Amino acid sequence: MVVGDVTTGTDVLVIGAGPAGYVAAIRAGQLDLDVTLVEKDAYGGTCLNYGCIPSKALITATDVAHEAATAEEMGIHADPAIDLAGMMDWKDSVVEQLTSGVEKLCKANGVSLLEGTARFADEHTVRVSHSGEGQGSETLEFEHAIVATGSRPIEIPGFDFSDEPVLDSRQALALESVPDSLVVVGAGYIGMELASVFAKLGTDVTVLEMLDSILPGYDDDLKRPVKARAGDLGIEFEFGYTASDWHGRDEDGIRVVAEPAERPAVDGGADAVADESLDLETEAVLVAVGREPVSDSLSLEEAGIETNDRGFIDTDSRARTNVEHVFAVGDVAGEPMLAHKGSAEGKTAAEVIAGDPAALDQQAIPAVVFTDPEIATVGMTEAEAEEAGFETATGTFPFRASGRALTTGCDDGFVKVVADEADGYLLGASIVGPEASELIAELGLAIELGATLEDVAATVHAHPTLSESVMEAAENALGHAIHTLNR
Ligand code: NAD
Repeated sequence: MVVGDVTTGTDVLVIGAGPAGYVAAIRAGQLDLDVTLVEKDAYGGTCLNYGCIPSKALITATDVAHEAATAEEMGIHADPAIDLAGMMDWKDSVVEQLTSGVEKLCKANGVSLLEGTARFADEHTVRVSHSGEGQGSETLEFEHAIVATGSRPIEIPGFDFSDEPVLDSRQALALESVPDSLVVVGAGYIGMELASVFAKLGTDVTVLEMLDSILPGYDDDLKRPVKARAGDLGIEFEFGYTASDWHGRDEDGIRVVAEPAERPAVDGGADAVADESLDLETEAVLVAVGREPVSDSLSLEEAGIETNDRGFIDTDSRARTNVEHVFAVGDVAGEPMLAHKGSAEGKTAAEVIAGDPAALDQQAIPAVVFTDPEIATVGMTEAEAEEAGFETATGTFPFRASGRALTTGCDDGFVKVVADEADGYLLGASIVGPEASELIAELGLAIELGATLEDVAATVHAHPTLSESVMEAAENALGHAIHTLNR
């Protein structure tokens, strides 16, 4: 112990107050455990402060403007003026409302909040240093620890986030002016979501992607409407390129250099892999090439906690690390790096510590990309189901055949369900189209409950709603959808 230190103790120490950590802390509080939550920055973590919530606020705001500007067909003629400062203020107010709510919920559930940066000193002790000069540090002993330190954007060589024209997603979500042009490196979740935001603000957007298509891992038929809409918004794509450097900063901006990617095409798409380098003029460059775990600053080795070769802390289905009394939840515990997966792991860890027989079932964790239109999936794709040895029955329903979709003016996309041919049990579903992020919940529940195609088809859905498309997709798999041809 360092002279001047205060040593206190807690049953459950949670490190990191993002959606994995604060949910773990609240659940532990509900279970009457003595819990301390240590956070060095802001309650709500990346998701509430710098990621999911601010990006969704800006996606909605720019959608409102774009929809108003393109509603002539509905008899609406508008030319919305964008007040970026006003938009950012509104986004910040949403974030503030949520983060202050998290703090209140933690306190109301008996969680002790501690501001500072925690590092393991041994397997039952952390040292917490408080920020600010002369603020000192304290030592905390714990029975159980839950590591929930999240992830950070990956930096690539040549693109330093501290250089002004180089942006990570957090900086892009807090810009003070709309750039005339933007190069987005990476056509993954973040790249595609923010490319649409900036295109709708009037920025000329070029997306550089080293593979030959957007959103790696998603089926081509899901990506097609997103790629087409991006084209309508004027977003340019350069596939098969790796951003290598930037140079030539002047009042017009910078030039981003990209080299042909060494990786072969994976999706067999129509865009040929490049063979010449690119030099693109742009005002700013957003780098969104993935995220890496925040595990290197915790002195994990002092507690004997192991990481894998990518820095993630491997866990079992009960969120346990290799050290019996230490748990890891959220992004730091590995893919998929999704807030709701982290929250589910957080609840599991708290319940396991309280002695409950909890475990996380990964089979029905949804994933949503908030592109235009949205993509949402849950469970297995058709290919995954076949690979797992199932004979599959599939059904689809296009939104252009949905009365409600037509009345919203958004009728791109479809619902697809995948079931076991033998007994009709739902195995997975995917949706691209309006409100896909909300519609997927019904199918997640259906999979969790072990529902069959007949169960979904026989459930009476309100008319006129987008959710009827879920019922019709199940009916289509059974060969009796009413509003589409059953082939
Ligand atoms: P990502 O892994 O989704 O996509 C990164 C993309 O960058 C890939 O397409 C990859 O091929 C490309 N790439 C990598 N290096 C490159 C290079 N040097 N030049 C050009 N292209 C390159 O990563 P992301 O978009 O940064 O998102 C990070 C994580 O955040 C994801 O794992 C996701 O789970 C999470 N996230 C989720 C949501 C959501 O749930 N809606 C939204 C945003 C982020």
